[in-house]
Amino acid sequence: MAIKLQMLTEHPNEIALIERYWAVDESGQFLEKVSVLADVIQMPQGVTLASFIRQRCTAFDENQVCPQCAELIEIRNRSEAKKVPQRSAKLCTFCQDKRNAIELEVKKAKAEELERRLAEYFRNQLSRTVDYAGIADGQVLLLLALDRAITPRLTNGGFTIGDCRGLAPRYISDFLSQLREAGLILEDPNKAKPGTYYWQQDEIWVVNTQVAYRLAPDTKLGSGEEVIRSLLDRVYTDNEGLFNLWLDYSVADVMCYLADQCDLYNHALSEHEFEEIKSSLRSALEIYSVSQLWSVAWKVVRDAASLANREYYNRQKAAATIPGKIRRYLEKARRESIELKSWSRPELQPAGTLGMVLGEVFGIDEDSSGLTVSSLFARLTGRECSSNVEAELCEPVRELMTNALAHDVGPSVLFRFAELIRAGHDVGFAVKEIGSALRS
Ligand SMILES: [Zn+2]
Repeated sequence: MAIKLQMLTEHPNEIALIERYWAVDESGQFLEKVSVLADVIQMPQGVTLASFIRQRCTAFDENQVCPQCAELIEIRNRSEAKKVPQRSAKLCTFCQDKRNAIELEVKKAKAEELERRLAEYFRNQLSRTVDYAGIADGQVLLLLALDRAITPRLTNGGFTIGDCRGLAPRYISDFLSQLREAGLILEDPNKAKPGTYYWQQDEIWVVNTQVAYRLAPDTKLGSGEEVIRSLLDRVYTDNEGLFNLWLDYSVADVMCYLADQCDLYNHALSEHEFEEIKSSLRSALEIYSVSQLWSVAWKVVRDAASLANREYYNRQKAAATIPGKIRRYLEKARRESIELKSWSRPELQPAGTLGMVLGEVFGIDEDSSGLTVSSLFARLTGRECSSNVEAELCEPVRELMTNALAHDVGPSVLFRFAELIRAGHDVGFAVKEIGSALRS
């Protein structure tokens, strides 16, 4: 017989049934059909013949031996039996149990090692304190906005990227990265969900969306609410840093609207195309306002949608024109001093707490143009000395006026000047632009 039986029952009827179930001929064929045997003994409801037999007998296939110890392999039902002798792919129960125990031991050791390393990493982070009086202006505003978005978890610890959605309309993880890279927010493995940190071979991997963060402690104030309160008295002096933060925020505000419009018209843009648009818009924001660029986004996305319906075009080709259209439209607006329309804030797109903080501290919003904001920051931070600016303009203005009078084009020069100012350019740009047009 090719199958060795180890009876666990002493009941003669059951033993007879079990022997009939496992009986095979010389070629390994089972002698009787399962359907015939199922009715021989009354079985409890819901119990199959195979499991009834398995509970009363352990069966070993003489055709399969354990690759490790050469003992016979236990089989649970007929389909696991082999007709010809062969080396088994799986281990016998004993060897498998031994292997499982070893694996469990290794797993436990690795889990302990992970815990030890994370605790050490966290202790290390906490030992590095920050002097919040010395951090950059942009970082102060970001922290104030973040605190408002997730209060009181910034100082209590245990917030994730997902919790920070209220910070800005888009690019939340980029804003958080700014704070992380500056060492102002730390990972707090104690507060993260189990499974956030895990082994991948010999490296520790992280589920980014589950990482829990907390505020880094201040040298003197610890990491409580006092840190945030201390930031409220900040006197802002970093003109460039403030303007960069405003650009980061504003580009998020425009890109959020643009992405929504693309969704609305089923334009599928690649990550690369979004990045290209983002660059164009960021540079346009140095002049225009968020609300003006919303109108540009609206127009370009609609144009692409109508293009998609034309012959020889499809959705994908039409969507691919969006980055180029935005760039050309902005270039044309600048060249011809076209006044861009301003859209009002989309209903479903709140400004975010960063927008609110910028509004409260500097009185700016989506209608403030980049030119206005940059001169406001320059004035507030004392980086602009008006007499200096005027002195620099003295020579070009004298030349412009002399030339205008010499060519007798005074009125048209003044009209053009007014046009450029209305389009959002500053005096210096307008004088330079008209001056070079007059000379050519
Ligand atoms: Zn074995």
